[in-house]
Amino acid sequence: MTTPNQLRDAYQDVKDRIANAAAKVGRKPKDVLLIAVTKYATPDQIRMLVDMGQMDLGESRVQQLEKRVAGLSEFLSRKRTLGSASTREDIDITQAATHVRWHMIGHLQRNKAKQIVNLVDLIHSVDSLRLAEELHSIGSKRDKPIDILLQVNASGETTKSGVAIPAVIHLAEQIDSMINLRLRGLMTMAPQTDDQGLIRATFERTFEVFEEVKKLGVGGKYFTALSMGMSDDFELAIECGANLVRVGSALFGDPEPGEDEVD
Ligand SMILES: *Cc1c(COP(=O)(O)O)cnc(C)c1O
Repeated sequence: MTTPNQLRDAYQDVKDRIANAAAKVGRKPKDVLLIAVTKYATPDQIRMLVDMGQMDLGESRVQQLEKRVAGLSEFLSRKRTLGSASTREDIDITQAATHVRWHMIGHLQRNKAKQIVNLVDLIHSVDSLRLAEELHSIGSKRDKPIDILLQVNASGETTKSGVAIPAVIHLAEQIDSMINLRLRGLMTMAPQTDDQGLIRATFERTFEVFEEVKKLGVGGKYFTALSMGMSDDFELAIECGANLVRVGSALFGDPEPGEDEVD
C-alpha cells in the first residue's frame, strides 16, 4: 500500500524520469504525455493524483473502467474541473489536457465496446478489422468520431494481441476510410523479457511503421500518437519515439496478490 507521500514522490520521480529520457534524445518533457494506469490504484490514490494535476488516466478492463469513471466523476463535479476539450487538444491528443481524460488500454471485446465508447477519450487497443467495424457502427450514433489507436504486435509473440507489422498499413487505410473513427496513432506492448535489445527492437519497429503510416498521410493531421512504454520500459520507449507512456506500478506500487480481478 502506497502512502500519500509515497505517491507524491513516485509521481515526481516518474515525471523526472520522463523528462530525462526525453532530454536524452533532444525532446522536451511536454512532448511526452504520461497516462497514469489506475488498475492497481485505490480510489483515494486516483483522486490525489488528479489533485496533483494528472489529467490522463488509463484502465485495461471494461468493468473496472466503468467503476473508475463513475467514482471519479462525482469527485470532479464537486471540483468543477470537468471542462470541455479545447480545439487544440482535439487536434493533438498527445498534448496535456486541462480536464480528466480516460484511456482504454486493454483488450476490448466487441460485445463490450458500446459500454465504454462514451466514457473514454482514446481507445488504444483496436487490434482487428472487426473491432474497428463495430466501433464504426457504434460511432454512427455519436456527434463526434471515436478516437482510436491501432494496436501493433511488433514482437511477434503469439500471446499478445495486436496487428502484425506487415498488416498495419492496410488496416490503417481501412480504418481511415471509416468516417465515424479517427485514427490517432499506434500502440504497442513490449515482449515479456529482460532482453533490453529485444524490447528496443520492438519499439523501433513500431516507430518505423508509425512514420511510414504518417508519411502516407493515413489519418492526416490527427495521426500523431505513439503509445508505448510501461513502468519497466518507458524510458527506452521514449528514446525510441513514444509520446504517450502508460505507467501503473511505478506510481501506485506493485499489485498485491488477488488484487487483479477479472471481469
Ligand atoms: C497494466 C498496463 C500498463 C501499465 O503497466 P505497469 O507495468 O504497471 O506500468 C500499461 N499498458 C497496458 C496495456 C496495461 O495493461
